[in-house]
Amino acid sequence: MTLSFRPEFNSAEQLIASQSTQQKPQVTEAEMMQAVRTLLLGLGEDPDREGLKDTPKRVMKALQFLTKGYHESLDELLNGAVFTESADEMVLVRDIDIFSSCEHHILPIIGRAHVAYIPNGKVIGLSKIARICEMYARRLQVQERLTLQIADALQGLLKPQGVAVVVEASHMCMVMRGVQKPGSWTVTSAMRGVFADDSRTREEFMNLIRHTPQFH
Ligand SMILES: [Zn+2]
Repeated sequence: MTLSFRPEFNSAEQLIASQSTQQKPQVTEAEMMQAVRTLLLGLGEDPDREGLKDTPKRVMKALQFLTKGYHESLDELLNGAVFTESADEMVLVRDIDIFSSCEHHILPIIGRAHVAYIPNGKVIGLSKIARICEMYARRLQVQERLTLQIADALQGLLKPQGVAVVVEASHMCMVMRGVQKPGSWTVTSAMRGVFADDSRTREEFMNLIRHTPQFH
């Protein structure tokens, strides 16, 4: 007989702590490497030949790196780098490199993000904007969600007058599998506040980021 035990939580913090514990990987690294070895066998390869001997470990390490954003939080990343400031002109960081992985195929999404906001009493260190993009990119993603997450993070942190995010990216699962031609790219955008409400502000942003993407 199996007894099920339902723990009681005294506070929201405890509940959240419990949930984050549940999200910790339930498999060992040895099991992950074994899974890669199984994949290689399924592909008709010999996982014991010299060139592939360390591949399961390398694949696991690479995937761990490419998804390290799961283990980062906005709080840790910002480390207090939000400042009170009366500036109210558009702040734009363009051409932020994006290296993400699509959640459907675990293949690269390579591109650039352009992020703008109009402050409303608070600003953030410019390098932190790129770090926020990186934190969300280093997870299994779809481009639409990545774009929204960046916009919502800034909206939540700064309560600015508005946020605009445009991501232009090329998806290797499409490019390499021949659905799209190399050089094709996908554009997604998220507009908040004045960027959503005021077409002139949105136009100003779009003019500032207008260019031909150079990546393939
Ligand atoms: Zn894909």
